[in-house]
Amino acid sequence: MTEQQDYCLRGVSEDGSVKLWLAQTTNLCEEGRRRHDAWSVAAAALGRLLTAGVFFGLNLKGEGDSVTLRVNGDGPLGSLAVVAEPDGAVRGFVANPQVDIARRSDSKLDVGGAVGRGTLTVIKDMGFGEPYTGTVDLVSGEIGDDVTQYYLESEQTPAAVGLGVRIAPGGAVDAAGGFLLQVLPHADEKVIKQLEFNISNLLPISQMVANGLTLTEMADEVMLGVPWRELARAPLAYRCSCSQERLRGALLSLGYKQLKELWQEKEQAGEQTELVCRFCGEKYYFTPSELKEMVEELDKERFKRFAASLQNQIVSAVEQTQEDKN
Ligand SMILES: [Zn+2]
Repeated sequence: MTEQQDYCLRGVSEDGSVKLWLAQTTNLCEEGRRRHDAWSVAAAALGRLLTAGVFFGLNLKGEGDSVTLRVNGDGPLGSLAVVAEPDGAVRGFVANPQVDIARRSDSKLDVGGAVGRGTLTVIKDMGFGEPYTGTVDLVSGEIGDDVTQYYLESEQTPAAVGLGVRIAPGGAVDAAGGFLLQVLPHADEKVIKQLEFNISNLLPISQMVANGLTLTEMADEVMLGVPWRELARAPLAYRCSCSQERLRGALLSLGYKQLKELWQEKEQAGEQTELVCRFCGEKYYFTPSELKEMVEELDKERFKRFAASLQNQIVSAVEQTQEDKN
């Protein structure tokens, strides 16, 4: 049985050399599956990336920061993306959610085969300046290995990542979770050996969640033989931050020419413009007159820019003339 509320536990070894994050993500993975009507292998891939996203999100510092994990693979699922925030909110999508491929020979869902070969990109947006971006080649497309590789290659942090999403026979996610271990440079070799042993002998995390283990009990399994303590616990949720205003911004970003064409087309047809949020499936509508207003807004900006550039030209022409006189 899985609990109604998803949580992530953050812990540290007593000697401070190992950091641990452990999450139950059943509800948010099921919410992602439901919103996208994702079939088993797509739901598993999306759920694993959502769970990994949680760890990246909780590691951000400030309010308003966000992190995007994008998997660009050449498999039938197409690309996947997840956005996570420091308050435990996470959302995502998979380009082709209704994909079915043969199971692996061990009867597990073939997430790696469905994702294919490609890259994992992590984009951290701190709300100011250029976002920090790191890209690694996919190791297996199983997501967990790929995120581990990202930490090692792009952040020079040895890490171990376990992600698991169990799909019930009816297609719903009935157990999901994950852990992230980060080992600091001063860690004892014996501690590292013990953790490696623990991880290779660990039950799949989705199995532990399905068995009803609490976060503390699961953390005890991962950290077996390594004294540790809990630092914090954060609630998690599938939550989107889309709004009419944000989607309006997306329309404005089309630019004057394209938006004008869209408005003319919709005006003629007498239809509203429907926009669907890729992350949550929420629908937003804009009337032709709202589009017209936006076109006029862009037109005004265009004029302002033109006037400003004209002024710059005049100023530089005047400066040029003065230089000529000197
Ligand atoms: Zn949304």
